[in-house]
Amino acid sequence: MRIGVIAIQGDVSEHVEALERALDERGNEAEIVAIKHRGIVPECDALVLPGGESTTLGKLLIREGISDEIQEMNDAGKPIMGTCAGLILLAKEGDEQVERTHQHLLGLMDTKVNRNAFGRQFDSFETELELPFLDSPYNAVFIRAPGIVDCGDDVTVLAKIDDMIVAAEQENVLALAFHPELTLDSRIHQYFLDKLF
Ligand code: GLN
Repeated sequence: MRIGVIAIQGDVSEHVEALERALDERGNEAEIVAIKHRGIVPECDALVLPGGESTTLGKLLIREGISDEIQEMNDAGKPIMGTCAGLILLAKEGDEQVERTHQHLLGLMDTKVNRNAFGRQFDSFETELELPFLDSPYNAVFIRAPGIVDCGDDVTVLAKIDDMIVAAEQENVLALAFHPELTLDSRIHQYFLDKLF
């Protein structure tokens, strides 16, 4: 098995370490590859889109020719997880800011996102989040977090903060507004790996 982490910008090493830890805990083996250019995604069995700055990430995904490869991976039904900026990139539609700047979105989920859903006063925060696949709350770290404001019937909402969707799933694709790679609790990465093993 080979798991790719898009590594052209953002919190890449944290995801690589979280995946390694999760693999260790469950006793599975997989190669984890940092993806900086075209030609690697087609060889991966699963993919992580980390947090970072979604405008920059989107531009680089196109420039490096990786965007099309991710679309093909999704068509093949392989597991894909996007965290924070990754959640934005997975969306089909964005808010006024996204539209105005013609930001590139992959459109793998039938979701509409707000890029900075939690505003300046909540720049960063942590909260205990209930997720349907976990038997106790998860300490979720939000950093200039986006949110999903609307979604289609094919999308399963996994968690909300007030009216804002902060975790959702559509078939093979998992989107999280927070950063599971920044805590030592590997249950989210385990849930993702369950789709692979
Ligand atoms: N809100 C950021 C963006 O628009 C994402 C923040 C993050 O990934 N920590 O790209």
